[in-house]
Amino acid sequence: MDFELDEDLTLLRDTARQFSEEELRPRADALDREHTFPIAEFRKAAELGFAGVLIPEEFGGTALGNVALSLLLIEINRACASTGVTVSVHNSLVCGPVTKFGSADVQKRYLPRLARGEILGAYALTEPNAGSDAGSLRTRAVRKGDYWVLDGTKVFVTSGDHAGLVIVYARTGDTGRTGDITAFLVEPSFPGFAIGRVEDKMGIRGSHCCEVILTECRVPVANVLGEVGHGFRIAMDTLDGGRIGIASQAIGIAQACLEESIKYAKERHQFGHPISDFQAIQWKLADMASRIEAARLLTLRAAWRRDRKEPHTQDSSMAKLQASTTCNFVAREAVQIHGGAGYLRDFPVERHFRDARITELYEGTTEVQRLVIARHLLK
Ligand SMILES: Cc1cc2nc3c(=O)[nH]c(=O)nc-3n(C[C@H](O)[C@H](O)[C@H](O)COP(=O)(O)OP(=O)(O)OC[C@H]3O[C@@H](n4cnc5c(N)ncnc54)[C@H](O)[C@@H]3O)c2cc1C
Repeated sequence: MDFELDEDLTLLRDTARQFSEEELRPRADALDREHTFPIAEFRKAAELGFAGVLIPEEFGGTALGNVALSLLLIEINRACASTGVTVSVHNSLVCGPVTKFGSADVQKRYLPRLARGEILGAYALTEPNAGSDAGSLRTRAVRKGDYWVLDGTKVFVTSGDHAGLVIVYARTGDTGRTGDITAFLVEPSFPGFAIGRVEDKMGIRGSHCCEVILTECRVPVANVLGEVGHGFRIAMDTLDGGRIGIASQAIGIAQACLEESIKYAKERHQFGHPISDFQAIQWKLADMASRIEAARLLTLRAAWRRDRKEPHTQDSSMAKLQASTTCNFVAREAVQIHGGAGYLRDFPVERHFRDARITELYEGTTEVQRLVIARHLLK
């Protein structure tokens, strides 16, 4: 058993930390306030190879894998969770499945552009009536000659309005079962593709999530990802990876909260002492740090198992459950340690508190992670 990072991973983490401090932290507050999509930040990240962590070198990626992606996302989210989710979705929900399930033709056409950050990826599974129960989705795909014709509405599509490639899940049969679902690689330039409402959110306000409306949208047959009828399996395998990404996001946000809290507790004086002298504050810091470390170990282990192609569905759900609930616990304590100041926009913990909330909701709610874990325990 080895808890040390090797040379490549150490270099990646240090480069990501420097990038986040220099390029992301100074802009994070403005992105949040102005609801500005971090496309410039994404492009800069891509220049450092951060858009192709799961893409093979022959297509211009770094192929460093899921442990590397987790370390990268912890550092990015420590500074800016809006950029964090943009990079996470691109790598884990789009580059990952195109690499794993794409035909040789699809890989050649999309992977180099995804790795360079020339196109940003999005993942469209959720529908107005299919959230936690994603298998009940209704978007239809009907084959007409060399095309599949897609009709339906997707909601909550992260980066949808800036994406160059959207993986859309649609029903290609009539049984109503998950074996009827197929994954399609859809470009916004395809006829019948439109962006609907861009949502106004509580947190990660720089990230955009929007409706994708498909009206007789024509997708070439060659743009099926994997096999017809294998879409739900692809969606679930993809989420096993994506949940490690969101767990990493949660750890990054929590780490930022802890660091801000330590700094503030040493600076703020009451009753003639820095508040860090009070045991009530010390215990909070100790609990915050211990829970973050536990979540970090679970998350890196899940990533390590995914890299080794070992079964890891339960590990991913445990990592996301622990990291996201820890993140919300830590963010709450961070605001408490800041007192009234923590409620003001002037202090970063106010943004972190709002950003933390999403980690318990997307890519499977906390309740859904518990369902997945319990299903494994009881089988
Ligand atoms: C900012 C944001 C970005 C997103 N990005 C994407 C994206 O890029 N692509 C995408 O496809 N989707 C995305 N989503 C959608 C997200 O994954 C869903 O919101 C999430 O899966 C929950 O679905 P729902 O909102 O329909 O909630 P519902 O499924 O309606 O759940 C409502 C409540 O019921 C609980 N619940 C539901 N079923 C059960 C059950 N069987 N047992 C116990 N409790 C249950 C839930 O846990 C929740 O508390 C995003 C959402 C948000 C808010």
